[in-house]
This record gives sequence, structure tokens and C-alpha cells, in this order.
Amino acid sequence: MTSRQALNRARELLANHKIEDASLEAELLLRHTLKIDRTQFYTEPDRMLTKQQEETYWQFVERRIKGEPSAYITGHREFFGLDFYVDKNALIPRPETELLVEQAIAHAGKYLNPLIVDVGTGCGNIAISLAARLPQAKIYAIDISEAALKVASRNCLKHQVADRVKLLVGNLLESATTPVDLIIANLPYVLTADVPQVNTSGFEPHLALDGGLDGMNVIKKLCLQAKDKLQPAGCLLLEIGVGQSKIVADFLQNLYPSANIVFMSDFNGIERVVCMTLPKH
Ligand code: GLN
Repeated sequence: MTSRQALNRARELLANHKIEDASLEAELLLRHTLKIDRTQFYTEPDRMLTKQQEETYWQFVERRIKGEPSAYITGHREFFGLDFYVDKNALIPRPETELLVEQAIAHAGKYLNPLIVDVGTGCGNIAISLAARLPQAKIYAIDISEAALKVASRNCLKHQVADRVKLLVGNLLESATTPVDLIIANLPYVLTADVPQVNTSGFEPHLALDGGLDGMNVIKKLCLQAKDKLQPAGCLLLEIGVGQSKIVADFLQNLYPSANIVFMSDFNGIERVVCMTLPKH
């Protein structure tokens, strides 16, 4: 069977099983099977698959049909222009989270040698993207899940930032000992009742999505803990869910009356990032 034939067959199978973006998914899995990039893939559509390759490919397609996300099958997901290793121990990075990283980079410019903490680091995509773009920064990356930290550790090595990204196990900011300039977090903010709709495959870690009854449990805890962990003129950047901006703003303004609070919308027009800056004194 040629690469083109395999692709067409897989596309049909995936589409029949109502898998979204069947073409793209079929290609992704085939390129992973053949270990080739896009250009190689399209310049040689009539390459013959070996028996072994065919077998592997149909196994991948089968797993995808059973609901496993392709990022877990391939072990890869691109985020902020970097390739991250992912597995079922950490949430798959979402494109909207790039907005959070962009904002953090913009704010980090205000500090000489920024000290940053990424709370709920998961696979480390936020902390590592920041480390790659901010050579002067020192970053703590915290997660409550040791299994997630193993994934993050692998990514730190892959991107050669292990010397500047310190991984810590802990509940939110509890293990952070020194106040920092910037706290950044993409915490679980999905309402418990909505988790099955977000984690459609059931493959992603529930803990990384479940924000409690109103989705705000974990975010509120972090806002409270940030009191002793943020330097004057420090900045707290949070990713939030649909419709949560007002609740978060009110909660923060109550806790930090002199802080400046703004929101940024994602490419779908959803207020996705809240940024709180403390005054200098
Ligand atoms: N943005 C994710 C989703 O809705 C949720 C991530 C989170 O809870 N931090 O798919």
C-alpha cells in the first residue's frame, strides 16, 4: 500500500467515526508512523509502506477512533512554536494559552532579572516557552502531580532550559518560598459538571480541568495565596474560562484594592486572560 492509499483509507475510517479534522489527523498519524515531516510527506506520495509500518499505522488509527487524542498517540504537541512531549499525565496544551505566554513576555520586560512562577505547570509548556524567550528569567514551575512534573522534566531537558526552570511539587504556591515578580497560571477552571464535555475522550487528567462547582475553586485559592508571594509592582496572570472574568475581577479587586486589573480576549473574542498588577509601594 502506498502512503497516499493509506492516507485516503484512514481519512475515510476516521470520518466515518465522526472524528473531527479527519484529513489532518490521518496525515499526522501517518507522518508519525513514517517519521517524516510535511515536505517529505507531500513530495513522495507514492512511497510504499512496509508491512510493519502499515500495522503500526492501523493501530494508531484504531486508537484515535477509540477516542485517544492524537497528541497522546504521537507524544507531541506544538505550542508557542516549540515541540512538547505530552502524555496522559498532563493536559494537552491549548492554542489559546499562547495569549497568556505573550502577555507574560510583555510584562517580564519590566523587570531586570525576572523571577517567575508558573503554577500548575503540567507538561511545562508555559514555563519552558517563557524560559526560551526570556534568557534572563529564572522560573519556578510547580505542579501538585509528580507524574505531570516527570513530563515537564523531560521537556526541560529537550529544550535545554533545565538550569533555569526549577520544578517543584506542591499545592499551588505552597512550595514557593520567595516572593516573585510574576505569577502565571493556567489552572483548572472548568465547572465540574462540564468536565466531560471538555475532556471528551476521557483521556486527559481530570485534576487538570476540574475547577469545582463554579469552576473557580482553584483560581480563588491561588489569588489568596498570592498575597505573600508577589513582589511590589508584581504581576499575576491567569487564564480563565468563558464568563469568569467579572467574578475573578471582583474577587481580586476585593483582595488587592490598589491593584490594576485588565483582561485580554482570545482569538474567539472570549475574555481569556486576567492580568493584575500591584502598585510599586
Ligand atoms: N482551556 C481548556 C478547555 O476548555 C481548559 C483548561 C483549564 O481548565 N485550564 O479546553
